[in-house]
Amino acid sequence: MGKSKLKKILYLLLCTAILGLVSCTRTPQADRIFTNGHIITMNEDMPEAEAFAVKKGFIIAVGTNAEMRDTYPVAEEVDLEGKDVMPGIIESHGHMLNLGRREMRINLQEINDPREIMQKLRESVAETPPGEWIVGWGWDDGAWKEQMTAISQELSSVSPNNPVWFAGLHGYNGWANAKALEMAGLTKDTPDPEGGKIYKDSETGEPTGILANAAQGMVTRLMPPLTVEQREKAFEIAGEELLKNGLTSVHDARITRKDLDALRALKTQKKLRVRYYVMLDCTDEELIGPYLQNGPEIDPDNWLTIRCIKIFQDGSLGTRSALMFEPYSDAPDVLGVTTTSQEEIEKLTIQSLQAGMQVATHAIGDRSNRITLDAYEASIKVVPEAKDHRLRIEHAQVVALEDIPRFKELDIVTSMQPPHATSDMPWAEDRVGPERIKGAYAWRSFLDAGVRVPLNSDFPGETLNPFYGMYAAETRQTPEGKPEGGWYPEQCLTREEVLHAYTVESAYSGFEEHIKGKIAPGRLADFIVISDNILTISSKALLSLKVERTYIGGQLVYSRNASR
Ligand SMILES: [Zn+2]
Repeated sequence: MGKSKLKKILYLLLCTAILGLVSCTRTPQADRIFTNGHIITMNEDMPEAEAFAVKKGFIIAVGTNAEMRDTYPVAEEVDLEGKDVMPGIIESHGHMLNLGRREMRINLQEINDPREIMQKLRESVAETPPGEWIVGWGWDDGAWKEQMTAISQELSSVSPNNPVWFAGLHGYNGWANAKALEMAGLTKDTPDPEGGKIYKDSETGEPTGILANAAQGMVTRLMPPLTVEQREKAFEIAGEELLKNGLTSVHDARITRKDLDALRALKTQKKLRVRYYVMLDCTDEELIGPYLQNGPEIDPDNWLTIRCIKIFQDGSLGTRSALMFEPYSDAPDVLGVTTTSQEEIEKLTIQSLQAGMQVATHAIGDRSNRITLDAYEASIKVVPEAKDHRLRIEHAQVVALEDIPRFKELDIVTSMQPPHATSDMPWAEDRVGPERIKGAYAWRSFLDAGVRVPLNSDFPGETLNPFYGMYAAETRQTPEGKPEGGWYPEQCLTREEVLHAYTVESAYSGFEEHIKGKIAPGRLADFIVISDNILTISSKALLSLKVERTYIGGQLVYSRNASR
C-alpha cells in the first residue's frame, strides 16, 4: 500500500470518527442526481447510462443509479421514471427574431381558403387604429399562385385605412393593399427596382399589390422598425418555442445592433430562455468593428456568446438568385446574384481570423461556394497561425463535385439544412438540371469526404422541430413518405450520424464541444426527456416523437404536462 493511500484512509477514518457516518467533509457533493433514466449520452466512452449528477449547472458524473446514490448520498434525487433522455439539441442555424415575430403577426401559414385570410384581417382591422400597419406572414407562394391578384385587391377593400403587408412563407413575395402601395408611392409608372418585380394588372397597368424579391423593400421600409422592447418580446417568444422543441442552444445566424441590445437586456433579466451563439451581421461596420479589434465575447455564464461574423455571398435557389457557374436550367439568362464579393469576404475573414473571430458565409450556388472557398483559402494563408479557425459555409446547397474535397482540405465546417432538401425537391432539379443536382443537398458526400457537417433547420422558413430535420436527413422524403425510397437516397444519413450532427457537431461548429452536445462530465446540464427511444425507433416515428421535459443547467425549463 502506497504512503498516500494509507494517509487517505487514515484521514477518512478520522473524518468518520469526528463527524459520524452522515457527513464527512470529504464526501463529494452534487446539487442533484437524475436517476432511473435511459440516458443516451452521445459520449462514445459510455453511450448509455442510468443516471448522472449535476452541480452548479454542470454534469459532474455519469453512471449507474447505485454509483450516483453512493457517491452523492445527500444530493436531491430526481426520478427520470425510466424515460429516454438525450443532450439538449443545438440549433446551429436559426433566426430567433423572425421566429418570435411570426408569433406576433397574423399567422397565415396552413390557410387554404382566402375567406379565412379576410376573416383574420377583419378581426385585426377592428382592433388596430387607422393608419397603423397590419402585418401577416406565412402564406405559401406556391399554393396561392392563381388567386394572388384577387386576394390583394380584397385586402384593399377589407382594410381601406390601414396599410397591410402579408409576407410569404419564404420571404420572396409579399402582398400589399392599396393603402400600403399609396404610402410607398407605387403607381403604374413605377419601374421595377433592381432585383425585384412589381406585379401589374395586364389591363390597367396598376400595381396589383404583389411584390417580389427586392421590390418588397419599397413597402417594408416604411414600417416603423421594431423597438428594443418588441425585439425582447420576440426573442422571448422564440426561446419558449425552442424549449418546446427540445432545443437548448441556438446559433442565431444574423444579429443586428438593435437585436444585440435586446439580447443583452434579456440576459440581465435572465429571460434569454435558451443559450445563444451570436453571428453578427457583417454589413454593420459599427457593430462588428469592436469584435474585429478585440475578438470574441465569450460569456462566462454560457448564455450569450458573440464569436462569429455572418456574411451573405449570394441569394437563394428558389428565386434563382443563388450564384451559379452556368445559367439556371429553367432560366437560360439567369446566373444569380452576388451580395458580397470574394475580395470583401477575404478582407473580413483575414480580420476575423486575426481577432480570433469565426466567419460563417451564406453560399448556396456552386459559384458562390467556390468564391467562398477561394476567399477562405487565401485568408488562411495570410493568417496561418489561426489553425483551429472553423470557418463555416452555411447551406453549401449546390456544390461542384470537385469542390467537395476542398471543404475537407481547408477544414470548412459545412452547416446544412435537411428540411431545405425536402421542401425544395419538387423543383430543385428543374433549376439546376440532372448533373448539378448530384452536388446538391449532398450531405452524405460531404461526410464521406471527412467534412464536419452540423445539421440544422434555418427556421422560421422551415419548421424548427429537430426530429423532423433528422427524419428529412435520413429519408429524404416528405412526411407522407414521398418519393418512395427517398429523393437521391444515396445521400441519406444513418440515425447515428444525424444524432451526432444535431448535438456534437453543432456544438463543435460554435467552439463549444467542451461544454455542449453530450451528457458527460464537464458539460452543461442541458438535456431533454423524450417520449421514445430515439436510438431504435423508425424514421417515421421521429415525426411523432415528443419532448416531455427540457432542462437547462439542470433546471426544468419546459414540461409538456404543465403546458397542456
Ligand atoms: Zn438563415
